[in-house]
Amino acid sequence: MAYAPAMDVDTLREEARELLDDTVALRRRLHRWPELGNDLPVTREQVLESLDGLPLTVTRHETTSGLAAVLDGGRPGPTVLLRGDMDALPMPEDTGEPFASAVDGAMHACGHDAHTAMLVGAARLLSSRRAELPGRVLFMFQPGEEGHGGADLMLAEGLLDVGDRADGSSSPITGAYALHITTMLPTGTIATRRGPLMASADTVTIVVTGRGGHASAPHQALDPIPVACEIVLALQTMITRRVSVFDPAVITVGRISAGTTNNVIPETATIEATIRAVSASTRRAVHDSIRRVADGIAVAHGAAAELLFTDGYPVTVNADAGADHAVAVSRELLGEAQTVVMPNPIMGAEDFSYVLERLPGAMSFLGATPLDRDPLTAAPNHSNRVVFDEQAMVDGMAMYAGLAIRHLSPAGR
Ligand SMILES: [Zn+2]
Ligand SMILES: [Zn+2]
Repeated sequence: MAYAPAMDVDTLREEARELLDDTVALRRRLHRWPELGNDLPVTREQVLESLDGLPLTVTRHETTSGLAAVLDGGRPGPTVLLRGDMDALPMPEDTGEPFASAVDGAMHACGHDAHTAMLVGAARLLSSRRAELPGRVLFMFQPGEEGHGGADLMLAEGLLDVGDRADGSSSPITGAYALHITTMLPTGTIATRRGPLMASADTVTIVVTGRGGHASAPHQALDPIPVACEIVLALQTMITRRVSVFDPAVITVGRISAGTTNNVIPETATIEATIRAVSASTRRAVHDSIRRVADGIAVAHGAAAELLFTDGYPVTVNADAGADHAVAVSRELLGEAQTVVMPNPIMGAEDFSYVLERLPGAMSFLGATPLDRDPLTAAPNHSNRVVFDEQAMVDGMAMYAGLAIRHLSPAGR
């Protein structure tokens, strides 16, 4: 293969800064008209309009409002995937911003509007380098991240079936990258880690069934309430005794409900809990332990426990090389001081996990709290008052583009 020097990324941030006005305008339009779930017709139209005129092959997904756009570079090489999610949350907005949500009960409180706008910006940055780009970039605009499994649906619809390049040369997808904006970090900071970045998030509903009766004569009934209470406590003990502190899990019983009044013993008591883990093996082991503990305690009291597990998103696991790549690109583009290697995962969940189950790569966090404010006290993602510093989108656009360029054209080659 002919020698080609590594592509230049020195001016990426300057170029991203020139795109900021347009990017802010798009982000604010999306912010004003948030849409929920997997059906985002207005958002999709905005993205299509913004991509208009770029040299992309765009596929409109049918099962969701997802869009897959491929940029085919001027030189042979593999394909790299960049992902931006597009959906909002079902909640009111109280930021007081002039571009605040005009839709009752919907808000872009997780910053997916910024992800979408930044990915459009990155498509511009990369399109302007198309001739020298050795390979392809697959832009994944996905709906339904907030609990609707949009990424999984796009995978099922053939997102990764990109085939060969137009000239017939093979171009397998060899990496996948995503950014998530956060107010937990100062503007312009990138943070990631090897291995688990975010947790799995499953739920369990446990129905304890006893026998109803008069509250004055519990021995003639079978009271499910103390049984349920024992199960709640035993689950916390189980977590500390059965799960390694180095491969942790969290169970939080967020809801417990039983009964109607003080002098009636009800027939059932219901426990609802969320289960978080950062490895697939602990995730499965914790499910088994919950079943054993709940069954065992119920049976000990002559009651019965019925368990219903609902699997949520799997653990988001960064490939070691993918995380190292994101760190290296951040150091090159943003500098050492702006690059954080996280000591621990975050126990939230993310459906980019489905993509990272199929492809090596990494997700990274992008800080968006202005430098004169404290990230510790800033309203967090999912708050009705969260405000993201739009300046961070310069770094986000440059990072998206840099992740793709350095994946296809490594430094020092
Ligand atoms: Zn979210
Ligand atoms: Zn999110």
